[in-house]
Amino acid sequence: MRLQENVPLAPLTTLRVGGPARYFAEVRTLAEVSEAVALSYSRELPLFVLGGGSNLVISDAGWSGLVLKVAITGIEERSQEGKAVFEVGAGEEWDKFVARTVARNCAGVECLSGIPGSVGGTPVQNVGAYGQEVSETIESVLALDLRDGQMHELCNEACEFTYRTSIFNSTQRGRYIILRVTYALNSGGEPRLQYADLKRYFAGWSVTPTLAETRDAVRRIRAGKGMLISPGDEDCRSAGSFFKNPVLTAEQFQALAARAAAKNLQIPSYPALDALKKVSAAWLVEHSGFSKGLVSGAVGISRKHALAIINRGDATAADIVAFKEQIQQRVEDLWGIRLEPEPVFVGF
Ligand SMILES: Cc1cc2nc3c(=O)[nH]c(=O)nc-3n(C[C@H](O)[C@H](O)[C@H](O)COP(=O)(O)OP(=O)(O)OC[C@H]3O[C@@H](n4cnc5c(N)ncnc54)[C@H](O)[C@@H]3O)c2cc1C
Repeated sequence: MRLQENVPLAPLTTLRVGGPARYFAEVRTLAEVSEAVALSYSRELPLFVLGGGSNLVISDAGWSGLVLKVAITGIEERSQEGKAVFEVGAGEEWDKFVARTVARNCAGVECLSGIPGSVGGTPVQNVGAYGQEVSETIESVLALDLRDGQMHELCNEACEFTYRTSIFNSTQRGRYIILRVTYALNSGGEPRLQYADLKRYFAGWSVTPTLAETRDAVRRIRAGKGMLISPGDEDCRSAGSFFKNPVLTAEQFQALAARAAAKNLQIPSYPALDALKKVSAAWLVEHSGFSKGLVSGAVGISRKHALAIINRGDATAADIVAFKEQIQQRVEDLWGIRLEPEPVFVGF
């Protein structure tokens, strides 16, 4: 394992802000992971696990301990009880893995095409888009438990997946290093075409689109929203959606709907579990005066998506945080709802 010092972290993230890592190690094998963890213990260095850097806001001070970049690769495929099972190294690029499953005609993650980041990052916030979430196909997660130094194969239920949440970003945050994820997909299955944007895209088709056509559609739709990383495009110098869609109780939803009705507006919402409603964070942001393309110094809102805060070139992490707080405050004042950020804040 090669230990580096004072490594700039901004270029390793999609938002491209933040300071350096005091120590940095890219780990490719389980032995290297163990070596890095042992080093962090012996030198009493706080550890941060980095994947593809697509869901992060790194502070301007950076990280004073050791950043461990998980680069474990490898994909193994087998059939099991009619399913196509893929065991995937945490450091594999997520979208490359999706492309491979589609090429192998396996359904289950096609709607998650075009999401940046690593395979190991997907269980952390139960990555989801266009009507699919990884919780539907993850069979298990192999992780190193920093509490006892042992490797554990956590089954799907043990990960406690809900909307943008798992044990890895809630109750057990910082406890596990994810090494490998196992997905069980439907060999020869049909694509999931439940999401409105996808239904619209395929309206008028007389045949069911293939998985490859669905992947292509998702990537095109994402590109139109600046949610597909395209080098040089300022609109995707972001951490994706900056806020989660609020999930409200019936009572909270009534209160919000009443505020909207008083302004002659109707808030878009979707059912979420029993008696809960998920409302559109993008709608709340836009109806609080933060419209697409808004510029605020070095930061702004993507011209293609109201939920993406962008770094317009030379933004600092402090700029991003100040803008995020401005949005949260205005939404709370107008709508009585505190938006919760989706990215992980590191070193603040
Ligand atoms: C343009 C754009 C579009 C996006 N679209 C979507 C979308 O549609 N849906 C969606 O859900 N997300 C989306 N995201 C967010 C992001 O891509 C996902 O959350 C992704 O899974 C993060 O993975 P990563 O490897 O980049 O993780 P990082 O950003 O590196 O890390 C995120 C968190 O996961 C932890 N982590 C990462 N790898 C490991 C590991 N091996 N072990 C333990 N912890 C780990 C980190 O410590 C950190 O807490 C988007 C982001 C961008 C920039």
